[in-house]
Amino acid sequence: MKMLPEIIKNLFRKKATRNYPAVKRVPFPNVRGELVNDISQCIFCKICETKCPANCIEIDKDKRTWTYDPMECVYCGICSESCPKKCLSHKPEYRPPMTKRQVITLRGKPLPPKPAPEEKKSDTDTSS
Ligand code: SF4
Ligand code: SF4
Repeated sequence: MKMLPEIIKNLFRKKATRNYPAVKRVPFPNVRGELVNDISQCIFCKICETKCPANCIEIDKDKRTWTYDPMECVYCGICSESCPKKCLSHKPEYRPPMTKRQVITLRGKPLPPKPAPEEKKSDTDTSS
């Protein structure tokens, strides 16, 4: 019976928790949320892959792909800080919850074809 006033008070008190993800918290300043890559600026230098402590970035220079596993990411921001093109950044909000593991692969524009090597002039070429 001693607890009754407290129980009644709690029934009408504002909830201490949020109904996430329906109700989101206003992000703190400088929060490192979802990692995004503006792939059009990426030069596939592999710096982000090399520096990532969670090994969750994989670059294929030849195929020009940037692959990222958000489930492995610890949102440390090392990749975005060290990207020379500043094409990696963090949104001020977290990625929506996922029901299945999802690895993200972004593809850069293919490189223009290399110019064909000049044909060797044959020894019998008498032009010029
Ligand atoms: S560090 Fe930046 S430019 Fe280099 S591969 Fe990563 S995202 Fe691309
Ligand atoms: S934020 Fe950290 S853990 Fe996530 S991809 Fe970048 S370097 Fe790796």
